[in-house]
Amino acid sequence: MKQIILATTNKGKLNDVKEIFNDLDIEILSFLDFENHPEVEENGNTFSDNAIIKARAAFEKYKIPSIGDDSGLEAFQLNGEPGIYSARYAGENADDEKNNLLLIKKLSKLPEPHPGRFVCAAAYYDGKEIKTAIGEIRGNIIKTPRGKNGFGYDPLFIPDGYNITTAEMPHEEKNKISHRYNAFKQLRILL
Ligand code: IMP
Repeated sequence: MKQIILATTNKGKLNDVKEIFNDLDIEILSFLDFENHPEVEENGNTFSDNAIIKARAAFEKYKIPSIGDDSGLEAFQLNGEPGIYSARYAGENADDEKNNLLLIKKLSKLPEPHPGRFVCAAAYYDGKEIKTAIGEIRGNIIKTPRGKNGFGYDPLFIPDGYNITTAEMPHEEKNKISHRYNAFKQLRILL
């Protein structure tokens, strides 16, 4: 069976991707299957650059076709912040709560609504070809966190057409509309 490595140690992402590829004859591995996996520095300027950096790092180490992904939230009133810095918006050691508080603080100086989007770039590399795909989900950012599901900025994000945050949605529902789902669905078509 063909193998692909997803360049992540995040079990949530791994399960999401396995679900999207479950009817293909592909075994999805991840960094969790290897000891001493590469520590990838996300020093690209775009989500796609970072996804390619991760896919390349995995392929160079294991010589197995690899997929990398990178994602984040963009607030349009803040010129796309936190963007590629989503995970470390409030500093290198920041957690979700600190990142969310900083975003709320910056948005509180601006008029409502606060439109934005989650973005995910996914990249495939097999030593010869790079294939990339981008997915997004648009909505509004609120300043009072709601919901306990998900992670990151989910308690602050209400997708267009909904009145609940992605942290108030069951996982399966978010996974059907998410930026990650949209990116990997497109990448699946390219593979
Ligand atoms: P990465 O793709 O693992 O580098 O994640 C980047 C960061 O973007 C995460 O730490 C979250 O802060 C944010 N993020 C990405 N996807 C989501 C999501 O689906 N919900 C909430 N936050 C997200």
